[in-house]
Amino acid sequence: MSEKQSGKKIVVIGGGPAGVFAAIEAKRADPAAHVLLLTDEACEPYEKPPLSKAVLTGKALPEHALIAGPKGTAAHNVVLERTALATAIDRAAREVVAAGGRRYRYDALVLATGSLVRELPQLPLGMRRVHYLRTEADARALAAALRQCKHLVVVGGGLIGLEAAASAAELSVRTTVLEVAPRILARVCDEETGAFVAKEHRRHGVEIRTGTTIASVQAADDGITMTTAVDESFAADIVVVGTGVKPNDALAGAAGLTTDDGIFVDEQCRTSDPAIFAAGDAVRFPAPHGLVRLENWRHAQDQGAVAGRNAAGASEVYRTVPSFWSEQYDLYIQGVGWASPQPRQVERVRRLLAGKSMLLFEIADGVLVYAMGIDAQRDLAAARRLIERKIKVDVSALADPNRPLASLLKASV
Ligand code: NAP
Repeated sequence: MSEKQSGKKIVVIGGGPAGVFAAIEAKRADPAAHVLLLTDEACEPYEKPPLSKAVLTGKALPEHALIAGPKGTAAHNVVLERTALATAIDRAAREVVAAGGRRYRYDALVLATGSLVRELPQLPLGMRRVHYLRTEADARALAAALRQCKHLVVVGGGLIGLEAAASAAELSVRTTVLEVAPRILARVCDEETGAFVAKEHRRHGVEIRTGTTIASVQAADDGITMTTAVDESFAADIVVVGTGVKPNDALAGAAGLTTDDGIFVDEQCRTSDPAIFAAGDAVRFPAPHGLVRLENWRHAQDQGAVAGRNAAGASEVYRTVPSFWSEQYDLYIQGVGWASPQPRQVERVRRLLAGKSMLLFEIADGVLVYAMGIDAQRDLAAARRLIERKIKVDVSALADPNRPLASLLKASV
């Protein structure tokens, strides 16, 4: 299609990685299209991974890591509309309605509305001395508060909680983590890797209390005291809550799109309305183990890119090998692939390496399906290729620390 013939209006809602990549890729796929990116924040979209790490410790500012690159979205000829909170989708008129009544017409729309924190009723959003960590404003506020803080309590031993705890420990703040589950990182990694990470936290002076439920909270001028179900009390200057997220699918649901714990999309990222696509934390999409939601950066970026290109007229199928990483102290924790929801159906093999490095593999029908490791980036890059190419692997070679994983790739070619 020539530039003059197109002039398609593509609107993207959401300034996270899914939205930014959708907008950039839509414009790249159809240079004549008018691509508008709506964000409810006042700034250029920024990367979230540094918020719980370098931003808290004062080593970086959010504006140092813009998702669209140092020159921002404008460098990609995407029009960024800031402080534009979408409040409704008028599907009959094909218009997005924003707070204040502004309306944006679209031929194709991409929803990349992300996720919202799961709020703890006893420690609600907005409560004094209580910090949730989602935006750059949250990170700046927490970074400032940590500098005055003597004792931090973190509620939730997931990725946000533990990264915040590691950052606080680095700032010499006495830190206690309260986790409701019997172990930390239960949603993220296997028991042994979780135990290793817990040990590193304890080595850095962080107290970790698992199986702990907060029964009541008392707020005073000088701090907050949390009492657990077994009547133990923890006092803190400030509290960080990292108890998970839920998909931000209300806008889609109110517009009559099919949602159920996420916006339903097909393998081309199309919702139940063929003019509307969706990507990132907010969606449930077809994957090897059924319809799933994924909450990670690479998925958001890659699915956003496919949704953007499809909004511009392509018919690409989204397939992913999911991955995540987390930095805590000097540990680089990484996972790649689809961890089996039924561990009994996979064979598990562990490879022990020197120092802190370790690797865990899951194999199904002779093929590597998941790998997780600490300080093993090179091996995990090879593992990703083994998973992507569905290469049959020799289980004893996976366990052998003297067999570089890359050699398994070569052996199979
Ligand atoms: P998360 O990883 O789901 O962890 C939440 C943790 O809080 C879980 O261990 C959960 O236990 C626990 N929890 C829930 N309710 C609790 C309660 N009442 N008291 C104490 N503990 C409770 O979520 P998150 O750490 O809040 O992170 C939010 C999102 O940001 C996630 O999507 C995460 O993937 C993402 N994130 C990613 C990274 C990274 O990739 N490096 C870093 C930061 C954040 P149960 O499992 O038993 O419910």
